[in-house]
Amino acid sequence: MELAQDLGEKPFRGKQLYKSLYARRILTLDAITELAKPLRDKLAATSHITETTIANVFNSTDGTRRYLLKLGDGKEVEAVFIPEENRDTICISCQVGCAVGCAFCMTAQLGIKRNMTAGEIVSQVILVLNEVYGAGERAPHRTNLVFMGMGESFLNYDEVMKAIRLLCDEKGLNIHPKRITVSTSGIVPKINEFAQEEVRPRLAVSLSGTTDEQRTKLIPLNKRYGIGELMTALQNYTLGRREKVTFEYVMLDGINDSDEDAQRLVKLIRRYQLHAMVNLIPHNPAPELPFASSPMSRILRFQNILVENGVVTFIRRPRGQDISAACGQLAARQQAAK
Ligand code: SF4
Repeated sequence: MELAQDLGEKPFRGKQLYKSLYARRILTLDAITELAKPLRDKLAATSHITETTIANVFNSTDGTRRYLLKLGDGKEVEAVFIPEENRDTICISCQVGCAVGCAFCMTAQLGIKRNMTAGEIVSQVILVLNEVYGAGERAPHRTNLVFMGMGESFLNYDEVMKAIRLLCDEKGLNIHPKRITVSTSGIVPKINEFAQEEVRPRLAVSLSGTTDEQRTKLIPLNKRYGIGELMTALQNYTLGRREKVTFEYVMLDGINDSDEDAQRLVKLIRRYQLHAMVNLIPHNPAPELPFASSPMSRILRFQNILVENGVVTFIRRPRGQDISAACGQLAARQQAAK
């Protein structure tokens, strides 16, 4: 509305523009025919719509689609569309590259290039929905979003939160906060800040280790915010009714997948009295990474120990393996090849 007023237009023109961009997902000013041509020309001269484009799409035999997206400055990020029977999930990025340096992640090898803006973050969702369903068409399935692509959400906190408010706005994309999951590798001060947010999605924590020594080798950030500090922050994190914190646990053969690891994980959850569930993620191996995935028999045994001790535990079904669908792999590959 402010933009319309700045241009000497009535506030409802601003509302029309907002609705066209976010509710109808129209990405070019020329296509917003509700607005008169002179106003479109004025808008084109004074502002710009985020210029993210689809550089490439990789289709998996299981229906997963992986998107290489080009930002306005030519930098590349990725998003993944994962269709399921009753819902779709879109995995999105929040940074170009990542500074956290997790040993099992290809994105870590890029280092950090820059933060994405809120507009760039939201544009991924619009582009993917439009590519799958067409602009202006309602997504037939309920859309879930996960911030598990490139980047550490809490190292780009303000833009991620701004994007979330846009994504959840009922007058815009209207995605319910409970359908959004923000993942962090454990930036403790931001977990505390996130707890206070009015519009707050679900929280997932990438754990992947049960002792400080082991976790620091896998997620170097653990040196700064150790497991004790992380668990205390989660203990103080007020959850909604039936809400749980999710621990993401990448299963690495012979590294973090023993019975003792599973038992330590149970003890941690009990000691800190956490309402938590665990997602076990079979590692997606890559020649550049020094790990193999735990065999399925080991993952099942690990799951059994957790479940027998009352911890709700899922094994994440690998999706899009034929198109390198592990988050971070595609952009890393493309950029390494340049
Ligand atoms: S797993 Fe996530 S936080 Fe860790 S390096 Fe990769 S993108 Fe960054």
